[in-house]
Amino acid sequence: MYYKSLQHKAPKVSFKEAVIRGIAPDKGLYFPESITPLPPSFFENITSLSNESIALEVIQQFIGNDIPIEELKKIVSETLSFDFPTVKIEESIYALELFHGPTMAFKDVGARFMARCLSYFNRNQKNKVTVLVATSGDTGGAVADGFLGVKGVDVVILYPSGKVSDIQEKQLTTLGQNITALEVDGVFDDCQDMVKQAFLDVELQSQQLTSANSINVARWLPQMFYFFFAYKQLKSIGKEIVFSVPSGNFGNICAGMMASRLGLPVAHFIGATNSNDTVPRFMKSGIYKQMASIQTISNAMDVGNPSNFVRIRHLFNSDLQLLQKWFSSFSFSDQETKEAMKKLMREHTYLADPHGAVGYLGLKEYMKTNTDYLGVFLETAHPIKFIDVVKETTLCQPEVPPQISKVMDGKKSTIRIADYGDLKNFLQSR
Ligand SMILES: *Cc1c(COP(=O)(O)O)cnc(C)c1O
Repeated sequence: MYYKSLQHKAPKVSFKEAVIRGIAPDKGLYFPESITPLPPSFFENITSLSNESIALEVIQQFIGNDIPIEELKKIVSETLSFDFPTVKIEESIYALELFHGPTMAFKDVGARFMARCLSYFNRNQKNKVTVLVATSGDTGGAVADGFLGVKGVDVVILYPSGKVSDIQEKQLTTLGQNITALEVDGVFDDCQDMVKQAFLDVELQSQQLTSANSINVARWLPQMFYFFFAYKQLKSIGKEIVFSVPSGNFGNICAGMMASRLGLPVAHFIGATNSNDTVPRFMKSGIYKQMASIQTISNAMDVGNPSNFVRIRHLFNSDLQLLQKWFSSFSFSDQETKEAMKKLMREHTYLADPHGAVGYLGLKEYMKTNTDYLGVFLETAHPIKFIDVVKETTLCQPEVPPQISKVMDGKKSTIRIADYGDLKNFLQSR
């Protein structure tokens, strides 16, 4: 299997090289050169297959010969060490809960898979790979946990001081071992800029720096798995499924679309956003105009220029009408999101986090006029991760799960940095 750059000005590469590079030399995102649908028998028998067997079947063609099958089996099974339940909310509406992993956000799946691939690729090398990542919250925690103790890989996380929640900060800063947290005097954009500068710095080229954000194919593609797991659980209801995905960088929903290219029966995809409405505006006008990101209560989706949307456009040959047939996108305000959280609690005794609530709103909007489907929205984070707004809005206090209480007792350890010079010094002094 080869991956091409969506800028079309870089050579094709194998899975291994795409993972290590992250982004192509022409700054394009990598995309599989071909997608071969799975056989009908796979879908006929899916209810009798384990999650591991499903995932292995789904991912195999995208890895090619770069990882031997026995090794890949191990990677998949370690990645999927938790549950992916669908929960009935109301007639014909289900939540697919993706928050039962170690950091309680769906990013655990991609981070765990990528960490194990990278560790395999680096198994014989003396030099360590350093994963450098900027985070506004959830990504850092999932990456830190996913890579913890993974041999041959050091992780350096930059986060804006005082701008992540207490839980998120603990998840980043208490693990130790091969994980270092750099606490930046600044905002998320400053962290992001420093990371970008480090990747371009010729004096750091000997450091084997790599990224772990959602443009990396090893983080993006395993997100296909749980669309199949949802189908497996809901197939017997016998209705066509529509998925609503709360979206920021649009990596998760794009993985769902890849699943449907593999033959998963999905009638329609809904990309639900907060006030960062670049994609909903595009779907109306056909004009893509990025915006400066706006801060909202569903902050993991505060993205003004969604990096994975080029992959979605590529999947539909940049044909707007074709895309509109399979995909809708709606934007919701914080006020609407809070109303939805209240309603879910009041009428269905379901405590949703703000991201899941946006997904629910997207589903309700679409199903107003498309009534015959089975609607599934992705609940992408546990409500405990957004405890302040959840408590204030619903007056409910979720119980603290063991994954969280464990890190809350940990001791924070960070190195404070102020500018790029500090980052470079740190990287070179190791
Ligand atoms: C990252 C994140 C999202 C957005 O996912 P994308 O793949 O960037 O669209 C949604 N919800 C939560 C809780 C997240 O952490």
